[in-house]
Amino acid sequence: MDSTQLTTLTGVIDKKMNRQLKQYMDICARCAICKDACHQYVGTGDFKYLPARRAELIRQIYKKYFTKTGEFVPALYEARDPDDNLLDELYDSTYACTGCRRCMYYCPFSIDTAWILSVAKAILIAAGRGNEMLGQLADAALFKGDNVEMFKDVIVSGFKDIEVEVQEITGNPNAQVPVDKQGADILYVALAGAHSIRPAAVIFEEAGANWTISMFEAANYGFFDGDIEKARLITKRFIDEAKRLGVKEIVVPECGHAYRVLELFYEAWSKEKMPFKVSHILEKVDEYIKDGSITVEKGLLTGTVTYHDPCQIGRNGGIFEQPRDIVQSLTDNFVDLTPNREQQWCCGGGGGIVAMEEFTETRLDRGTQHTPRSGYRCTSGHRPRGRSDAAQGQEAHARIDEPRDREPQRGTLRGAPFASSPDSDAQAAAYRTRLGSTARGRASNHKRISQ
Ligand code: SF4
Ligand code: SF4
Repeated sequence: MDSTQLTTLTGVIDKKMNRQLKQYMDICARCAICKDACHQYVGTGDFKYLPARRAELIRQIYKKYFTKTGEFVPALYEARDPDDNLLDELYDSTYACTGCRRCMYYCPFSIDTAWILSVAKAILIAAGRGNEMLGQLADAALFKGDNVEMFKDVIVSGFKDIEVEVQEITGNPNAQVPVDKQGADILYVALAGAHSIRPAAVIFEEAGANWTISMFEAANYGFFDGDIEKARLITKRFIDEAKRLGVKEIVVPECGHAYRVLELFYEAWSKEKMPFKVSHILEKVDEYIKDGSITVEKGLLTGTVTYHDPCQIGRNGGIFEQPRDIVQSLTDNFVDLTPNREQQWCCGGGGGIVAMEEFTETRLDRGTQHTPRSGYRCTSGHRPRGRSDAAQGQEAHARIDEPRDREPQRGTLRGAPFASSPDSDAQAAAYRTRLGSTARGRASNHKRISQ
């Protein structure tokens, strides 16, 4: 790596360096508690997916270029140059992360590994090693934003097709999927595809809402890619649309990252206060049921029903009770998964990982197991591309029925509900003890994670 490239990459860290990042760099105790919190490490047993190990790659560059000890005695302090080998390791560890932040929840210091990996993504992009597919999808979204008139007829025609279905479902021949409606109260920003538009349109229609649908999609591939400027511009497309239409509220669909970007990040990125309320569709449906705008029939759902808290909406967004209230308005047979709420496992499909074919195996190794293992019927959930829910469910059940040569062991460091390979555990143990860890940390691991 030449000096210009090196300056560019260390400059990325320098630009992102603030008190919080410095603390994350300095404070990790290598207790490895986070290992049993990460679905990918637990599911694959691969050392590169241990959360602290992922962050360690950034820490190694930090030590070399931002600490005196690492600069002068790099071998002793595990300081490294961001060479090709390190960047290769960094790519796998970084883009595989779903950003679920379960590791942060269990870390005794609340180290936000997903946030450290956002710095890693910026480094990879600066090195020309960002994820190609996510970059292309982000660019396509921006192109559409810049040339919306070019796409308008196709988009509106798609909405008209869905409108016919909404009329059939509601029995109302005048039901609409309104586009570009000036003075609407609500702007609904859907994902691409009828699955994200039709149900919401039926609910808005039944509730008598004054709504309109956005010309843009909520999914933010700029955020997944780690390019914050692109992420801001992708969100800005429908913020500008909302301002132009004069709406009072933006409602986002099931996409948790879209909700998080809009609710938590956009104002800081754009340094402007949004003049409207932001709601998730689950909050809106719950509101409609509670204020009587829509009525639902209890008993339509048969069998035991449960709910899987999505990471961005639940652990990172704080929406826990509204979805449970919705389900319980439909059935008396609701049972919570264990764990649930903040402690819920990631489904394995977030962070744009579905768009990256190279991580398909990693995603499926862990993502489908939680709900079937709980013993409840899986009626829906995260669907791998091109495969049916039924196929996914069968595969998950088959995997659960496989004999295990080693069952999870409570009361040891293998406290998580899925076995990991002896080799990876040995690596993790070595990692944990290399610079020492605390007995207290080890003990609290089981208490907190293996429930
Ligand atoms: S849980 Fe322990 S090893 Fe993992 S990030 Fe936190 S301090 Fe570091
Ligand atoms: S944010 Fe989630 S996927 Fe990423 S390292 Fe932490 S637990 Fe694993």
